Amino acid sequence: MFRQVRIRLSLWYAGSLAAILIAIGLTAYFVLRESIDSEINSSIRTTYSDFTTKFPPPNTNPRGNDMPRGGYDGDGDGKYGSNGDYGDFNARTTDVFFVFTDSAGTVVSNPRQIPVTSFAFADYVGAADRDGSWRDVRVDGDNYRLASYLSPNGEYIHIGRSLAARDAQLDKLTLVLLTGGLAGIVLATGGGLWLAGRSLVPIRRSFDMQRQFVSDASHELRTPIAVVQANNELMLRHPEQTIEDNLDQAEAIAIETEHLTRLIEDLLTLARGDEGRLALQKTDLDLDHLMGELGRDVAPLAEAKGLTFKTELAPVRVEGDRQRIRQLAYILLDNAIKYTPAGGTVTLTTRKNGRKAELTVRDTGPGIAPEHQARVFDRFFRIDDVRTHSVSGTGLGLAIAKLIAETNHGTLSVRSEPGQGAAFTFRLSVKE
Ligand code: ADP
Repeated sequence: MFRQVRIRLSLWYAGSLAAILIAIGLTAYFVLRESIDSEINSSIRTTYSDFTTKFPPPNTNPRGNDMPRGGYDGDGDGKYGSNGDYGDFNARTTDVFFVFTDSAGTVVSNPRQIPVTSFAFADYVGAADRDGSWRDVRVDGDNYRLASYLSPNGEYIHIGRSLAARDAQLDKLTLVLLTGGLAGIVLATGGGLWLAGRSLVPIRRSFDMQRQFVSDASHELRTPIAVVQANNELMLRHPEQTIEDNLDQAEAIAIETEHLTRLIEDLLTLARGDEGRLALQKTDLDLDHLMGELGRDVAPLAEAKGLTFKTELAPVRVEGDRQRIRQLAYILLDNAIKYTPAGGTVTLTTRKNGRKAELTVRDTGPGIAPEHQARVFDRFFRIDDVRTHSVSGTGLGLAIAKLIAETNHGTLSVRSEPGQGAAFTFRLSVKE
């Protein structure tokens, strides 16, 4: 499943990048073409206007309308191409060529001596006008832009410019864009695969954790249900018996039902926490007062187990959810009482340490081995030897305590020397 997601993510990534590159490439291509084209067009227009300025039509000429057809170029022979002045004009318009034809398209003058035989000028004269009739033509494998003007004195002037330089430039750009784009897409796909792989690691981890959680939860739920079922069946086999006759079964059902209820409550709390829906009602509270009340409730449980229960409560004020913080402390105290053998001591302290408020539950029980210390906060984690000692529990208490600590912007940590007891500390900011 994750492999498919990873491939799909990379393909999406490469696809989006390709779309962006294509859009950028097309824009660059057309902008460049547009700018070269406009330079070409203006050079053609300038040539025409320079030309008509330098060699004006007959009605503006002192010799008047008797000027011979073929245009006025100053030497009086009526042929444009024969005037030496063109040399000067040619020099200024190196890229542009100009050809004069009659109305049949026959070349009258070709001052730049370009090989005009392949240009079918006869096809263009019909459309020629004062603004020039523009077209791109392909001659002997090369592209030209050609504007055919009908000058005011009735001459056909075809002004052209080769598009070879433009085409070469555009071809080069196309090559750069294509190779660059392809390399970019290949790199992006590789990079995308790597990135997707990396970003999927935490998702995969949390997915595995959720899967493990569901499987552990089902397992934990199945056991009490099986016990309830078995005891129930046992009782149903003897419908004539009274509850008193089946007290053991009834008691087992009651215990397991209570265990189930607690388990389901714990699971719901964690699920709400995962969804960020653990509702908190934060208020300013005196942690020492709250722990004093809790201590009074818990003391009989510790005493019943033959433990000494002590409280050392220094005043400290915090902001947090009263019920949840009480629940957190209860989980720590319940564990301390559960896991500390008779004769031991459980101490509940509150104190101010700099800007932090600290709530600590310390016991003189078996302690927790260093390799287990980080894992005791994992869901359903129970240390094996404790399990075999058949102390009841769900393995969810410390996970819930940590969730509560974090949602109250605090931390929960453990310090323990195996054999020397354990100390769990909840820290959060002091409310000044
Ligand atoms: P449980 O319902 O088993 O108590 P918790 O999440 O509260 O679940 O605790 C996880 C495990 O951490 C316990 O099963 C126990 O092995 C260990 N543990 C917790 N508190 C103590 C303690 N005070 N002393 C020794 N071991 C402890």
